[in-house]
Amino acid sequence: MSEYSYPRKDAEFLINEVIGLDELCQTAGLDEVNGELASAILEEANRFGTELIAPLNVAGDEQGAVVGENGVQETPGFAEAYQQYVENGWGALGFPEDFGGQGMPKLISTAVSEIWQSCNLSFSLCPLLTHGAIEALLLHGSDELKNTYLPKMVSGEWSGTMNLTESQAGSDLAAITTRAIPDGDHYLLSGQKIFITWGDHQMADNVIHLVLARLPDAPAGSRGISLFLVPKFLLDEQGNPGKRNDVHCVSVEHKLGIHASPTCVMAFGDHGGAIGYLVGEPNRGLMAMFTMMNDARQSVGLQGLSVSTRSYQQALQYAKERLQGTRPDGSRHPIIDYPDVRRMLMTMKSMTEAMRGLAYVASAEIDRARYESDPAVQARRNARVDLYTPIVKGWLTEMSQEITSLGIQVYGGMGFVEETGIAQFYRDARITTIYEGTTGIQGQDLVGRKFLSNGGEVLDDYLAEIQQTADQLSQSDQLAGLGDALGQAVDGCREVSQWLLAHAAEDRNVAGAASVNFMMMLGFVSGAWVLGRSAVKAEQLLTAGQGEQEFLRAKLVTARFYSEHLLPRAHMCQSAILAGSDSMMALNEDQF
Ligand SMILES: Cc1cc2nc3c(=O)[nH]c(=O)nc-3n(C[C@H](O)[C@H](O)[C@H](O)COP(=O)(O)OP(=O)(O)OC[C@H]3O[C@@H](n4cnc5c(N)ncnc54)[C@H](O)[C@@H]3O)c2cc1C
Repeated sequence: MSEYSYPRKDAEFLINEVIGLDELCQTAGLDEVNGELASAILEEANRFGTELIAPLNVAGDEQGAVVGENGVQETPGFAEAYQQYVENGWGALGFPEDFGGQGMPKLISTAVSEIWQSCNLSFSLCPLLTHGAIEALLLHGSDELKNTYLPKMVSGEWSGTMNLTESQAGSDLAAITTRAIPDGDHYLLSGQKIFITWGDHQMADNVIHLVLARLPDAPAGSRGISLFLVPKFLLDEQGNPGKRNDVHCVSVEHKLGIHASPTCVMAFGDHGGAIGYLVGEPNRGLMAMFTMMNDARQSVGLQGLSVSTRSYQQALQYAKERLQGTRPDGSRHPIIDYPDVRRMLMTMKSMTEAMRGLAYVASAEIDRARYESDPAVQARRNARVDLYTPIVKGWLTEMSQEITSLGIQVYGGMGFVEETGIAQFYRDARITTIYEGTTGIQGQDLVGRKFLSNGGEVLDDYLAEIQQTADQLSQSDQLAGLGDALGQAVDGCREVSQWLLAHAAEDRNVAGAASVNFMMMLGFVSGAWVLGRSAVKAEQLLTAGQGEQEFLRAKLVTARFYSEHLLPRAHMCQSAILAGSDSMMALNEDQF
């Protein structure tokens, strides 16, 4: 089993040269943040992750969380690692200083999250859900709730959860039935939630649940759902965890992967009602929860990248060591010499670099939107963030299925054997296309809310920016082929966009039938765009004789491989979209 190491060269090239951290921080007024500080943080996070969190990954796979007398007991060793994570201030990295955060840009906290997720996906889920809960409270919580709960959540001393799903309400959250009855200055909640990640554990002093529930007079459907904060332990007069609240984990699921991340059935109000506090306005809970989901969705997209990177690193090492085949001189050679093994490794390498590029570009856009002072520009940036979210979540996680599967394929038979460890990444990656909204839901979100609802304007703006990169590439003799390919893919997106705008209204199945292919198409084009930007920068540095030459040359080759071997998939998506919904919907149920 190979050691994980954060791909710092690729990441720092992206952060500093392609995205431009220094310029971003100056515009945002984050004067003390720069590339040097980012590099130091990433180095330390890599050290902490590889020394303390990564060694627990296999242990967590083999001995997952279980329910005991005092609730859920996590894998041995996790609590100690989490304690150090909190003490070292990692939880607070990206949050406002008002609540004890360190005020780092999202771009840096995203890069650091990649490290935790690659080291140990199950472990990283606990801070991930806490982050989402903090974001929702920051935007929608009252001052009292913020002051009471945020400092301990930001530090990580208390963790957070997201309680949406019920057995009859999965993708369709309008079907939620958990009740909340007013009772003085609080509410009493009763109902059952399923699949709640890190719903209970012993690692933190308190668990702060954000719960969707209905008020007694709430209208039916999604407009009658409110959001509540329900602590595991109620706070005493001094604000410390005191009496146990009426919320308990009933059981944890046995599942395909992420065994160390407890997936809990949570019972609220079995003994009279769980005390909860309203977050935001009554009946507007789903909207507030969407804040949390958008944050969590980009983080889950990042999980797709993180597990893929881990699988790639391990497969690469195996491909260099595994001898299979004989050279003309009689010596045996490693499998990395075979073109088909190269196909797999180059697919893994170029895809992970493209995925990282998109995830980091999307994070930087969140920073730009957050610190923008001009309302019109800010609205445009927020619209771009909204456009990126389903692509980052949907495309990165779908691609992680292929990449972690290729990791097993590179290993041959030993990939199918658990002791090599490569299979764990495949199993762990499988959940990423399901939770935080399935791929189908991401596709719908993209085509409906992010595209049709604004008449394609936001996408047009994005495509124009991608076209600029295509034009830049075309000006270079060496990169002109990449520019042509990217330009053709942009034309394809424009054709699809116009076709969808013209046909979606006349046939209600058109948007749904096209949705996932549309999301994947924009993913492949976005990947080519960020690798194209990287290629332009790499060529500039090479010409100037700056930077690490071998790395920069490899970057050019990687971008070319992606353009030749992966970008054509955008055209496959295009053909499928333009075929419409007829054959998809023609059979009646009995004909299946
Ligand atoms: C390990 C794990 C951890 C989880 N963690 C949490 C958590 O912390 N908090 C929480 O609240 N939930 C959590 N979930 C729940 C998760 O978010 C849901 O499983 C997910 O949203 C899908 O809902 P569902 O399972 O009911 O599937 P369904 O909604 O029944 O979907 C089944 C299939 O139908 C498709 N489908 C459904 N509706 C549509 C539609 N409108 N358009 C197109 N296709 C559609 C889906 O894409 C999917 O392929 C977790 C689940 C798991 C397995």
